[in-house]
Amino acid sequence: MTCPRCRSGKLFKQPYNYENAYKMHERCPHCSANFEPEPGFYFGAMFISYILTGWLFIVIGLVLVFGLGWSVTATIITVGLLTILIHNLAFRFSRSLWIHFFVKYDPAQAKEVAS
Ligand SMILES: [Zn+2]
Repeated sequence: MTCPRCRSGKLFKQPYNYENAYKMHERCPHCSANFEPEPGFYFGAMFISYILTGWLFIVIGLVLVFGLGWSVTATIITVGLLTILIHNLAFRFSRSLWIHFFVKYDPAQAKEVAS
């Protein structure tokens, strides 16, 4: 969850603070790369989050029901609680992954801008 260009500056403000979980820096504190290239840029991150958490919870649910013999109700409650617990992490990870798809790692340019 660092800047895709320099991999030094953090994408998000206040890591693991629940109230400010979604606040991102507008620009990289290290190399001033733009973290919001266009309005609605992170819309696609929603699909990343959906795919990652969907598969994760399907696997966890299948393991709990068929592997450990849990009831369906207990599994749904457990997966629901797990969803709440990892929501911020999934949000941040998806946004980080999304911006890394589009911004290339370029330490030379990052160093040039920083100095
Ligand atoms: Zn940077």
